Amino acid sequence: MNGNMMQMPLLISALIRHADRYHGDVEIVSRPAADEIHRYTWRDAHHRSRQLAKALLALGVRPSSRVGTLAWNTHRHLELYFAVSGIGAVINTVNPRLFQEQIEYIVNHAEDEIVFFDLPFAPLVEKIAPRCRGVRAWVALCDRERMPDSGLPLSCYEELVAAQTDNYTWPQFDENTAASLCYTSGTTGNPKGVLFAHRSTLLHTFGISLADSLAVSSRDVVLPVTPMFHVFSWGLPYAACMVGAKLVLPGAQLDGANLYQLFEAEAVTFTSGVPTVWLGLLQFLETQKVAPSTLKRVVIGGSACPPAMIDKFAALGIEVIHAWGMTETSPVSTTNQPKAKHLSLPADKLRQLRTKQGRPGFGVDLKIVDSEGRELPRDGVAFGDLMVRGPWVAAGYFKGDGGDVLRDGWFPTGDVATLDADGFVQITDRSKDVIKSGGEWISSIGVENIAIAHPGVAEAAVIGVAHPKWDERPLLVIVRKEGEALSRDQMLDFLRGKLAKWWLPDDVVFVDSLPHTATGKLSKLTLRQQLKDYRWPAASAAGG
Ligand code: ADP
Repeated sequence: MNGNMMQMPLLISALIRHADRYHGDVEIVSRPAADEIHRYTWRDAHHRSRQLAKALLALGVRPSSRVGTLAWNTHRHLELYFAVSGIGAVINTVNPRLFQEQIEYIVNHAEDEIVFFDLPFAPLVEKIAPRCRGVRAWVALCDRERMPDSGLPLSCYEELVAAQTDNYTWPQFDENTAASLCYTSGTTGNPKGVLFAHRSTLLHTFGISLADSLAVSSRDVVLPVTPMFHVFSWGLPYAACMVGAKLVLPGAQLDGANLYQLFEAEAVTFTSGVPTVWLGLLQFLETQKVAPSTLKRVVIGGSACPPAMIDKFAALGIEVIHAWGMTETSPVSTTNQPKAKHLSLPADKLRQLRTKQGRPGFGVDLKIVDSEGRELPRDGVAFGDLMVRGPWVAAGYFKGDGGDVLRDGWFPTGDVATLDADGFVQITDRSKDVIKSGGEWISSIGVENIAIAHPGVAEAAVIGVAHPKWDERPLLVIVRKEGEALSRDQMLDFLRGKLAKWWLPDDVVFVDSLPHTATGKLSKLTLRQQLKDYRWPAASAAGG
């Protein structure tokens, strides 16, 4: 027997319709160019999304057609989120920081029919267009005055929108229809596409808005620093729309000074980003001796947030919510929010808990397994391969790439983690970055977290290097802060006593900068290649 409830599919268009009707006067602020601030409301965004929907249909976009974007966080990109998915087509947000060949690969593999791009990417578009033959139109995200000179017959976004009225009703269709497509960076091999559905997106949006997750509400002013091309800014534009929060879209200027200026000008309360972004902001705040006056929470994920960073934000009265996820999980899977029983913990124990990657809310299920697939205890000590399942977790890749990826209905994350009885996860490494020393595993993240706390260290990475006696030993690679003269021995002295003796790196190497991926994470693959000629000092090589 079915229930007698209304059949209303969970569609992305319902989000923007709701925001228009119930939060129509709430502002969206966007910085599409360094010299331009654009302001309008959720009502205006809905109005323009419907005009854009009609423009897309006029360009021949049909249900299931793929529409690409190469764009920063702006109101126009937001309109594309709602218009493309709203008509039943699929938005493919492409990371413009990838190598040109990867971008071409993605646009072709996704079969993007139209590509919308921000002006700084006009030269890139000129280069890739001849090799992306399936793209019928390249649309510059600007008005007529700012249209770039180009050998290509470019279309102008503002003209396309202005040519349409907003007399359009969003179609209703099955909530399992594909809404969006995002490619994982693919550190090895080609990028793989994760195809999200309307239903999975809405459930994820409900999930991350909960108080025990990111706690997004209509009283927030949300500024996602996480790019809209990187798993939809971790879902924050949808969440802001669902709850009717003011949304601030910072464009391409993500340095400390520009972020601070926007935080203050727009009274931002909540922001998001990978740890590397916050290094810039914290350094700016430190040197300028200023502090954000309205910012309350920052969600940090994408790679491990060092405890020292959590402390620095705490000293400014800003709470860090450490989160873990991946493109394949929409992306948010765990968020670090203490339970009632944790609030009475001594400060050092609570701090220790809050440095973990958090726990899953309803909708995400986790387990850790050994190499045979046997489940390991949830005791916070045993570590193994982290597996995830849930209604916003991928069941496979676009076009079947990678074959059957699930194992007994679980998605293997490629991360190694511990899991405790309360569900708190601690990621020790990506499985390919784990250091195997004398039959035991050393967590590179565990060592980096301590090294980064030294005041002379700007960035730290630990990689395993082959060792004649121990298989592999950890090598610490440091970028010093400007003007610091930190030595190898000072660094090792600092670490001594703070971690297990056999976790102590055998050597320290100083470099000017560390390699990062297109999503701002440390690229250990590149670092290992850069240091392939490194040899251990004689004492270490002898097994000392
Ligand atoms: P890619 O880096 O390939 O673009 P994702 O953005 O999907 O792909 O990255 C997901 C991976 O990032 C996770 O599998 C995990 O290794 C890492 N990651 C994400 N959040 C955290 C975190 N809080 N701590 C440690 N690692 C994290």
